[in-house]
Amino acid sequence: MIELKDIEKRFGDNVVLKDVSVTMAERSVTALVGPSGGGKSTLLRCINLLELPNAGMVKIGEEELAFGTGRRVATGDIQRLRRQTGMVFQNFQLFPHRTAIENVMEGMTVVLKWPEAKARERAMELLEKVGMAAKADAWPATLSGGQQQRVAIARALAPSPRVLLCDEPTSALDPELAQEVVDVLDRLAEEGTTMVMATHDLRLASKVADEVIFLEAGTVVEKGPAAEVFGNPQRERTKRFIATLR
Ligand code: ATP
Ligand code: MG
Repeated sequence: MIELKDIEKRFGDNVVLKDVSVTMAERSVTALVGPSGGGKSTLLRCINLLELPNAGMVKIGEEELAFGTGRRVATGDIQRLRRQTGMVFQNFQLFPHRTAIENVMEGMTVVLKWPEAKARERAMELLEKVGMAAKADAWPATLSGGQQQRVAIARALAPSPRVLLCDEPTSALDPELAQEVVDVLDRLAEEGTTMVMATHDLRLASKVADEVIFLEAGTVVEKGPAAEVFGNPQRERTKRFIATLR
């Protein structure tokens, strides 16, 4: 389970997340939706601690860290928690001078210090899972956006994280290429991969998400099962926003 408790994040005087408390079940998919600037990306970055909350608690599985004024958090603890997560970005961010399979292997050989052969074998399995085995030796620049994103998903899954975090995974893609990525994420969800994704893509969220969290101005406005939040939003604000996605 992922638990965020009373998360506050400020950039200078700008309070970007205010007392955000949410839990996400193991093997579930949560979509973070809401207007631009609402704090979706920041919340994802507070889960993997690319941003450190000013206050609150982050728990992933057994690993838990509390933040607050005067509290010092050890780098080792941050890394331990971060290793529970894998991240997929809007713009793929593959290493341009590594082939597809080398991109997937990198974390296993460099961070986990796995022997090359073992990393290659696992990378190939992951590329097969995302339908990219045939392109294992291709350079990122020769791949379509959808193909690059699928390699990026394989790379994020390589160290077997407890949770896959995706920040707008389809928003840089044409509809057809976005669909490839939706299909891959949908398959991963069916296999029980725990995911949290920030997205404006209603097709992605309504197909893949079990739970939806609507964030605006750093506050959770509404949350609940995807079918309910999308099908019958309770708050006027949520209703209006969801209408804009259709
Ligand atoms: P979008 O839908 O446009 O991706 P978002 O919901 O992901 O928006 P965030 O990127 O989390 O929103 O931004 C929330 C607020 O935090 C914004 O006001 C943004 O300007 C601010 N912010 C985010 N990152 C930083 C930063 N590194 N430094 C200063 N302010 C930041
Ligand atoms: Mg964002």
